[in-house]
Amino acid sequence: MVHCSPFVVSFKKLYPWVQLAGHADHFQAGEYGKLLKKYCECEQQCLEKLMNDNLRPFVPGYYGIVQQNDQDYNLMDDLLTDFDSPSIMDCKMGSRTYLEEELVKARERPRLRKDMYEKMVAVDPGAPSRFHKKSDGTCNTSFKKTKHKEQVMEALSDFADGNTQLLRSYLQRLEELSSALETSEFFRTHQVVGSSLLFVHDASGLARVWMIDFGKTVPLPPPQTLDHRTPWAEGNREDGYLWGLDNLIQIFGDMLQD
Ligand code: ATP
Ligand code: MG
Ligand code: MG
Repeated sequence: MVHCSPFVVSFKKLYPWVQLAGHADHFQAGEYGKLLKKYCECEQQCLEKLMNDNLRPFVPGYYGIVQQNDQDYNLMDDLLTDFDSPSIMDCKMGSRTYLEEELVKARERPRLRKDMYEKMVAVDPGAPSRFHKKSDGTCNTSFKKTKHKEQVMEALSDFADGNTQLLRSYLQRLEELSSALETSEFFRTHQVVGSSLLFVHDASGLARVWMIDFGKTVPLPPPQTLDHRTPWAEGNREDGYLWGLDNLIQIFGDMLQD
């Protein structure tokens, strides 16, 4: 006689990142190695273009739109597939978390969009917001105002458990990403806002970084391009993405000096 016991693992156990998601109900498990994120046209357009850009190795593979229970989703690679009990850090990039177009709307309708306006001015635009989860299950989501270099170094060192080999792997991956960004046609022609770098490692020493979350990444009106380093002044649409990445690379380098 054969007993068939269904292999049931709780969704949360299989997908620890749902705890990190701003909106956990926006995600569903896909077939093996893939996940579904609630459809957003802007993100779909970006992921589609990124599949033909030299940034492709640094973003989740994208497989189009799928429907489940009357809801549309973007189907993409689950970046955690190759890891065992991974430690995860989501590092939001750039100097703004809102699009210029949103700022204009908030100003036009200050009473209707008071919530948004308050959110925009609440967090120092120079401060990277970050939150992370470690393999021991601890989760820290209170890094919105981590901004002094020493605090960032402390947070990173804690995340990597002081493992210099891990820091070296992350630094190498960030440098590769930086080179790819410098020559990316997609990056030159898009305002990248609210996007994150997802840092993932596990006890085997495997460490990777990917760009995720393109819900607020929009094409620039041609022929405008950005250098992603010039400070933002309303109208120039600069997002500070490379300014932030330069700082991160500098910090990882400094941590390896000590
Ligand atoms: P928000 O806009 O509030 O940041 P969101 O709904 O747009 O949230 P994301 O930021 O894309 O969602 O993802 C939330 C979290 O889910 C990420 O921090 C990450 O931990 C996880 N995640 C997102 N995409 C992937 C992926 N392709 N593979 C594995 N984990 C992912
Ligand atoms: Mg996000
Ligand atoms: Mg988002």
